Amino acid sequence: MGHSSLAMVFFVFAEPEENSVFDNWHGLEYNPNMLLGMHISGAGKIYQTLDLAHELGCNTMQIFSRSPQRWRDADLDPRDIEEFRSRNAKLKISPVFIHVPYLINLASPDPKLYKASIKAYIEDIGEAGAMQADYIVTHMGSHKDTSEEAGIERLIKALNSIIEQTKGSSVGILLENTSGSGSWLGYKFSHHREIIAGLKHKERVGLCIDTAHAYLAGYDIASKNGLEAMLEEIDREVGLRLIKLIHLNDACGRLGSLHDRHDHIGKGSIGLAGMRRIINHPKLRDLPFILETPKKKEGDETRNLKAVRKLRK
Ligand SMILES: [Zn+2]
Ligand SMILES: [Zn+2]
Repeated sequence: MGHSSLAMVFFVFAEPEENSVFDNWHGLEYNPNMLLGMHISGAGKIYQTLDLAHELGCNTMQIFSRSPQRWRDADLDPRDIEEFRSRNAKLKISPVFIHVPYLINLASPDPKLYKASIKAYIEDIGEAGAMQADYIVTHMGSHKDTSEEAGIERLIKALNSIIEQTKGSSVGILLENTSGSGSWLGYKFSHHREIIAGLKHKERVGLCIDTAHAYLAGYDIASKNGLEAMLEEIDREVGLRLIKLIHLNDACGRLGSLHDRHDHIGKGSIGLAGMRRIINHPKLRDLPFILETPKKKEGDETRNLKAVRKLRK
């Protein structure tokens, strides 16, 4: 062992300074008992997202498997997938979540878009499986001014077809709640109940709760009673055990304002006290927390991760 390992031992015990270069050091050591990660966006190779997550001290992460704004133009290079797997055998970032691109709309009334969405989703699950990713996170789709009932019906059909065509895959499918803007489904949990009730095979399906979306959709999770009320509603509608992931974002905007805008942890409408309650809630604390907080300035990522670690009891 050389000098560097001695230095390492020293810094583990040293209190890190605000914004110091040691912010990234041994991030996991602050709260080894917490599953904390963030959405990692990288323009490079898919396996480099693992290095970025590791450097930030994350033990879980979410990524796009390809450009979120474009339709799939090519498959991932099998060599990159292989490299992803072998790197993660060492780094052990787990669970790994893949967020589907925004263009996918499994509730679309447009037959062409609907079919293309199902096809792309199936291909994404295949790749996620090859990468040994654990879950695929999806917004529940927009009914585009048809009706919620019709949208939910299309979504159920799409999911049944996807689950059937990816039989044998161990990749879980997570339905995320939305902020309720436009014609998006999933701003209340009766939607999740109706959808899950319509599935022929439910084993691989769970929920992702986005805290910003919930608040903007009208759940006052900044308050103790509001958080309890939402958890009761989820439990009543689908069961809390179906929650597999928390998208931990503060909300930018008023309660129930419907616009989907995320804020830095503690800086938005949910605030520090609200965030502390969510992070430490006995029914939520063992779940993976993924940040999708804004990345505008240098250091935003470490500042937000640090804020969460500080709030954790
Ligand atoms: Zn989210
Ligand atoms: Zn959002």
